[in-house]
Amino acid sequence: IDQDLVCIGCGAHIQTSNPDELGYTPESALRKGLESGELYCQRCFRLRHYNEIAPVNLTDDDFRRLLSQISETDSLIVYVMDLFDVNGSLIPGLHRFIGDNEVLLVGNKEDILPKSLKRPRMKEWLRQQAFANGIRPIDVVLTSAKNRHEVNNLFEAIEKYRNGKDVYVVGVTNVGKSTLINQLIAIRNDIKDLITTSRFPGTTLDKIEIPFDEESSLIDTPGIVHREQMAHVLEPEDLKYAAPQKTIKPRVFQLNGDQTLFMGALARFDYQRSNGPVVAYFENNLNIHRTKLENADQFYEKHAGELLTPPTNGNFEKLPKLIKHNFSVSEKSDIVFEGLGWISVPAGAIITGWAPEGISVITRKAMI
Ligand code: GDP
Repeated sequence: IDQDLVCIGCGAHIQTSNPDELGYTPESALRKGLESGELYCQRCFRLRHYNEIAPVNLTDDDFRRLLSQISETDSLIVYVMDLFDVNGSLIPGLHRFIGDNEVLLVGNKEDILPKSLKRPRMKEWLRQQAFANGIRPIDVVLTSAKNRHEVNNLFEAIEKYRNGKDVYVVGVTNVGKSTLINQLIAIRNDIKDLITTSRFPGTTLDKIEIPFDEESSLIDTPGIVHREQMAHVLEPEDLKYAAPQKTIKPRVFQLNGDQTLFMGALARFDYQRSNGPVVAYFENNLNIHRTKLENADQFYEKHAGELLTPPTNGNFEKLPKLIKHNFSVSEKSDIVFEGLGWISVPAGAIITGWAPEGISVITRKAMI
């Protein structure tokens, strides 16, 4: 393809080979677009005609370049995180890219967290997590894009804090950014007539602008791929046991010291010193198996991929081997298996957490 062909909506270079990347246009649409003189990439085409934002992936370098452009703008930044995978939602160095702009923090997938968890507390907790990473949000909104919960509130918060400025929506892939934006668009149902006319064609590379009013836009930036997500080490058929579909039911284990929990064959939790029960927060259908610590190595060797699933049979061979991480905690904490879930442990616990190579295990202040 001619290198100079760009989408008149977002300015991305048109390509016909990779549907997941910027500027993708099916061959047939490319021909039509050239004939009519209105060449849109598939993503902008969908936004124009169906009011739908499609997710797109960027390389790390492209993403950094894009973020650094944001620091030069005068705008409101809406930062979308996945409440189930807060650590996996962090954008490395985001605080440097914000410039002087204010950040409105969104904790999405609220529907997945137990009802017993008080929302004001959860907001405060999320704010603290952001603080620890150098972000000082002006406000926190919890949403469920899936259930359209609190999306109106988010819309109002955006209107309140943006003060007529542009709005940049940022987030790593999979946090629900596209779903959320689609709903914000639906709220502005009069937007149909305005959509995707870039104010600076060819210069607003890689981002989709959705006009808010005559002067300002909501700008969807592509998500950065977090390679350390569970989603990248699991086959799609096994992913349904890792990614929660419904509200998590906490599972309590009255463990003595020297006991082990296996989360399928995906993760392992060794309770070296017990100070009371632990509570596990994982997909409700994920099989959690308890053994004695002293038998755990053998047990895994013998049963991983069979009694211990997921991964289901054939896929176990493809799973990276489990790597261990040691912790001792002085306050009530969560041991987080990134993207898979967490186990909350009492103060004074000594734990070894195991996860497939490349997947982090961390501790944080207990969410609940
Ligand atoms: P993006 O990559 O950030 O644009 O994320 P998507 O909007 O494509 O969503 C990623 C996945 O999360 C999809 O499977 C969505 O159905 C799911 N999802 C999005 N929002 C929610 C939510 O509020 N709750 C739940 N449970 N799932 C959600």
